[in-house]
Amino acid sequence: MTKLKILEFPDPRLRTKAALVEEVDDELRKFMSDLFEIMYAAPGIGLAATQVDVHKRLFVCDVSTDKSAPLVFINPEILEKEGTTVTDEGCLSVPGYYEEVERAEHVKVQFLDRDGESVEMQTDGLLAVCIQHEIDHLNGKLFVDYLSEAKRQRIRKKLVKERRQQAAVVL
Ligand code: ZN
Repeated sequence: MTKLKILEFPDPRLRTKAALVEEVDDELRKFMSDLFEIMYAAPGIGLAATQVDVHKRLFVCDVSTDKSAPLVFINPEILEKEGTTVTDEGCLSVPGYYEEVERAEHVKVQFLDRDGESVEMQTDGLLAVCIQHEIDHLNGKLFVDYLSEAKRQRIRKKLVKERRQQAAVVL
């Protein structure tokens, strides 16, 4: 079992801009397996390194319903975007909240795979939304940043309160 824990909004470490991965080696592959383990256990369909306080540009995702499509994206970069789509999004770092976010419908993305090979992928639907959401994490951005200030503050207050209650000792 991994010791990594998911950071939760409004933890300031989620605002860190991740650095480029310089080498895809076994240590990094081990870390990616840990990310999959945490993501599947959560459960979630995407998890960025930033969310477990590792500030490297990579994320994992699997938009299938049976864990059959694991994908890793290292140093991902969106080359093209087209169209718009609105999705009810949630985030493992903002537990319990789901809000509509507008993003590009189609994306063309370039990244390194788990062997360090450069790949170009064109995709749409849920995977395209997931890629944009996770790349935002690597840039220190959260889906709540797309909401109004009032809504974001309301979520922040509730999460801080919930966490205080969880941490409290009841005598
Ligand atoms: Zn997220």
